[in-house]
Amino acid sequence: MEEQPLLSVRELVKHFRLPRRSLWRAPDVVRAVDGVSFDISRGKTLGLVGESGCGKTTTGRTILQLMRATAGEVHFKGEDLCLLNDTEMRPFRNGMQIIFQDPYASLDPRMTIGKAIAEPLMIHKLCQTREEARDRVQGLMERVGLNPYFINRYPHEFSGGQRQRIGIARALAVDPDFIVLDEPVSSLDVSIQAQILNLLQDLQDELELTYLFIAHDLRVVRHISDRIAVMYLGLIVEMAQGVEIYDEPLHPYTQALLSAVPWTDPRLARKHQRIVLEGEVSSAINPPSGCRFHPRCPIAEDRCRNESPQLREVQPEHWVACHLA
Ligand code: SF4
Repeated sequence: MEEQPLLSVRELVKHFRLPRRSLWRAPDVVRAVDGVSFDISRGKTLGLVGESGCGKTTTGRTILQLMRATAGEVHFKGEDLCLLNDTEMRPFRNGMQIIFQDPYASLDPRMTIGKAIAEPLMIHKLCQTREEARDRVQGLMERVGLNPYFINRYPHEFSGGQRQRIGIARALAVDPDFIVLDEPVSSLDVSIQAQILNLLQDLQDELELTYLFIAHDLRVVRHISDRIAVMYLGLIVEMAQGVEIYDEPLHPYTQALLSAVPWTDPRLARKHQRIVLEGEVSSAINPPSGCRFHPRCPIAEDRCRNESPQLREVQPEHWVACHLA
């Protein structure tokens, strides 16, 4: 029997209504996420990739119910989280965590890192005594590669990579099943990026964690993702097994994203010759008709301006939203 996915997202929509600019005009609506669907099995990683403003971070936060969906379903451990109120959501909060791009912003500069990591343990009453919390924190610090001797130091005393390790320890404190990694290595040097990615992979293997890995760079998610979904203006335009996306991208936007990566692997560098996209990403307030990518697509046809392409399975497990794929 096929295993149930740990997380199932169906037709997820998140719109933001902007303040009315005049009494006579309807308020503008930002269509940040406009009908996104995917599954993630336990212990697997889905890489969610796209340019800034495409809706990937909003997708992650809406799944975690940090912002409520406008429509759609998020099934996690058998419940549709979108139907739960804040009290009903509480038992699910521990199971779902987020790691941010800049852990410094989410750490209180006046709190020692020991207290910062212990905070979720105390809030959720996972430790009865301070000694127990201290042991647990030291164990978590060791697990993420931080010296427990530094338990009484403050966030500013650590490097960017170490601060990201603190963020990871804090997220792990409540034993989550699912973690949204929101650009977790984007602000780090390449050598430190590799260390953090290796740590995340080791933790996944050891604890059977399930990840949604959000990134703007297809290179970053290459080794850690089992599947990759590419987003453009609130929609998934291509989704496939990681290897397939890199070897045989079918959507012109994915091809352009791959061509923008400075590959060190000569095979990939030869394969993805530079494609320069014309123009800017259109506005999510008034997205283009038909295919949302058509104003920038180098192979757009008349049909693309009027007909919106559906995400369809063109090869086993390879989904593309393009009339010409
Ligand atoms: Fe380009 Fe048309 Fe395909 Fe959209 S549907 S990606 S405009 S070819």
